[in-house]
Amino acid sequence: MDLSYSADEDVFRAEAREWLRAHVPEEPLPSLETAEGFAAHRLWEAELASDRWSVVSWPGRYGGRDADIFRWLIFEEEYYAAGAPGRVSQNGINLLAPTLFDHATEEQRARVLPSMATGEVVWAQAWSEPESGSDLASLTSRAVRTEGGWLLAGQKTWSSRAAFADRAFGIFRTDPGDPERPHRGLTYLMFDLRAPGVTVRPIGRLDGKPAFAELFLDEVFVPDEDVIGEPGQGWRIAMSTTGNERGLMLRSPGRFLAAADRLVRLWRTHGETGDTALRDRVADAVIGARAYQLFTAGGASRFASGAGGAPARAEPRVGEIGAESSLNKVFWSEYDIALHETALDLLGAEGELSDTEWAEGHVFSLAGPIYAGTNEIQRDIIAERLLGLPKGRR
Ligand SMILES: Cc1cc2nc3c(=O)[nH]c(=O)nc-3n(C[C@H](O)[C@H](O)[C@H](O)COP(=O)(O)OP(=O)(O)OC[C@H]3O[C@@H](n4cnc5c(N)ncnc54)[C@H](O)[C@@H]3O)c2cc1C
Repeated sequence: MDLSYSADEDVFRAEAREWLRAHVPEEPLPSLETAEGFAAHRLWEAELASDRWSVVSWPGRYGGRDADIFRWLIFEEEYYAAGAPGRVSQNGINLLAPTLFDHATEEQRARVLPSMATGEVVWAQAWSEPESGSDLASLTSRAVRTEGGWLLAGQKTWSSRAAFADRAFGIFRTDPGDPERPHRGLTYLMFDLRAPGVTVRPIGRLDGKPAFAELFLDEVFVPDEDVIGEPGQGWRIAMSTTGNERGLMLRSPGRFLAAADRLVRLWRTHGETGDTALRDRVADAVIGARAYQLFTAGGASRFASGAGGAPARAEPRVGEIGAESSLNKVFWSEYDIALHETALDLLGAEGELSDTEWAEGHVFSLAGPIYAGTNEIQRDIIAERLLGLPKGRR
């Protein structure tokens, strides 16, 4: 594998760096988990989109730059190194969009993707239910056939930023079928969070920020045009979404390279030369970020060449990397916690102040082994599908 960048890639990097230098807000935006911050981040999405930086890997006709997976990784490195704001549109861009590229009609893509790229429509993921998290296939929310579409009923929960988002995507039971085969009879669809029959109730978080929400659905009408793929095929389509969620799209190496850089800067101001244990943890964070970058480059090369089970694609995008995505997910979620704990230990008593960037990052990192599928489940997938070990008893 050739690890050097081409002249064209260097030009792309320089262009991204220059744009970000000129546009990244000098003051951090308020948290995107609040109403004020959500609105400010939506405007930031529009600004990114105005120069086609919001979705670089998408085709130009939907607002992208037709960039390949390597340019997307370069962009992410520059984005995080520039200290640019978090992405309020991440659920749409990282989860729904790849699903649409793989399974939707051209009409649906043309209708949904452009407003997602500009932040005009922000999407929430409505998968989890109170009794269906890890065992997602046991979900009971229903979609019942009606004239011209479907009526949704049930409850979804743990929906990130749903309190302020515009629309949601989720899976619903359309055929009760065989209880021994719960993966069958599910349908993947999109719905409006402001439609009649939808109640959005924020879930109180420890930090008091109100964006996390549960959704109550009472006879919510969804037209046929908002069903993705064939009715009954929801599980298969959902599995292509999870590959993207756990894989490199949700947490690209750029994020951790930038965090490791910040940690080194913190060591320089707060570290004590004699504290070799802490110094080694800082070094581990730098090595971990670099290892993840190289591991990702390997996966991206296999993906781009169509090897390793990843199909060659007509659309220039990043996408499914199958069960390998579980390796990424376990790695970045555990790495993120270790990195933040090192920072807090470096800060000492100062780290106890709850509103510092490091303290907030630490609280968020603790959720990493839970969201996008818990790490226990990822380890089961790695054992069974990558290592070929026998299925455990559940
Ligand atoms: C910050 C955050 C954001 C989230 N955002 C969203 C969102 O936007 N949309 C959405 O739909 N959901 C979201 N979720 C929900 C998330 O996907 C679920 O919390 C997760 O899938 C786990 O489900 P659960 O909470 O029901 O836990 P459970 O499934 O009840 O699991 C509890 C524990 O049991 C373990 N366990 C369960 N089954 C097994 C098994 N077979 N083998 C071994 N161990 C097992 C789990 O690993 C876990 O440790 C979010 C969660 C968090 C924390």
